[in-house]
Amino acid sequence: MITVDNLNKRFGDLHVLKDVSTQINKGDVVSIIGPSGCGKSTFLRCLNLLEQPDSGTIVVNGQDITAPGVHIASIRQKMNMVFQSFNLFSHLTVLENLTVGPIKLKGFAPTVAEEKACELLRLVGLGDKGHHFPDELSGGQKQRVAIARCLAMEPEVILFDEPTSALDPTMVREVLSVIRRLAKDGMTMLIVTHEMDFARDVSNRVFYMDAGGIHEDGTPEQIFLNPQREKTRAFINRTRSLSFTIADRNFDFYGMNAEIEGFCEKQILSKRFRQNLLLLVEELVLVHQPLLAYGPLTLRIEHAERSNQLGVICEQAGLDRNPLVGGHLPDEFGVMIIRSLVQSIDHRHESGHSRLTLVVRSKAPPENG
Ligand code: ADP
Ligand code: MG
Repeated sequence: MITVDNLNKRFGDLHVLKDVSTQINKGDVVSIIGPSGCGKSTFLRCLNLLEQPDSGTIVVNGQDITAPGVHIASIRQKMNMVFQSFNLFSHLTVLENLTVGPIKLKGFAPTVAEEKACELLRLVGLGDKGHHFPDELSGGQKQRVAIARCLAMEPEVILFDEPTSALDPTMVREVLSVIRRLAKDGMTMLIVTHEMDFARDVSNRVFYMDAGGIHEDGTPEQIFLNPQREKTRAFINRTRSLSFTIADRNFDFYGMNAEIEGFCEKQILSKRFRQNLLLLVEELVLVHQPLLAYGPLTLRIEHAERSNQLGVICEQAGLDRNPLVGGHLPDEFGVMIIRSLVQSIDHRHESGHSRLTLVVRSKAPPENG
């Protein structure tokens, strides 16, 4: 239904969309997720020509809408957009908001447009609100009116740009229910959203956007449960990380500890978690110190907010064995402490590169006699 080929969009020096290509089929419900500023809105706005792409083509039902001389208004009717901020006409009643487009742009007779508008208002649960003005409605009701107004133009595709972001949490559900209903009726939709649970159960496809494009395109099961790419996984798990490179004994360990404490505070880690992490890092540094001659140690702390899993990854080029095993150890006691602070240890080395992954225990270390 929609074929996007090598779409590019720049704002000055900022290259927002880089050679984006994809196909959207009739009946697809695509949720678009990704970090703020990655170009999700720009992508939607290019699709209905609110932004003019710099290059590339968008073909909708066989028509190249990026070709010169296209009738932009009719494209926007076919691919109508619902905005975060509703964008209702405040000087018109709810009913007039729904009828003005069909009468002016589609040439509907006023009585026909009105009849249809009433039907759509009932569909979104607002059958009794036709004669109200937008300001008399709650945010959730306004957004449902905006959806009804969008439907009044009989679109083939609806583009939603964060339809619930401006709403109080109590009103999110009523809007999502309406969108769910449209999905059930087979409407083709692209939905930029931060509501992950909703994205997971309403869509048949999820785009993870990052770095100027669709970084991963998959089923909700793939994207949310088994993402194939690193960046997608970090986003889904809401992983935050902090890393240090320790080259020699001149490294500022006090500075590192202070940064780790700040990180723990930001990630709202429990006191026990924080203590275990700090002690673990200290012991890891001690164990690695005699090995720094092989090459610098990179120490990365990762916290996955969703699962509340905290990990420490030690990487060292030039080291071809497990740093927790071997005769270099100043004292075996350090390794014992490390083992008591973690719930799992994984070590691998490949072509002279050692990678030690430890998952920090969130509880007190077991009593060890
Ligand atoms: P998202 O919706 O994923 O948060 P946007 O598509 O809104 O991201 O924006 C992508 C990038 O393009 C951002 O860095 C934003 O500041 C920039 N941008 C968006 N619109 C404009 C514009 N009209 N002029 C200049 N920069 C813009
Ligand atoms: Mg946006």
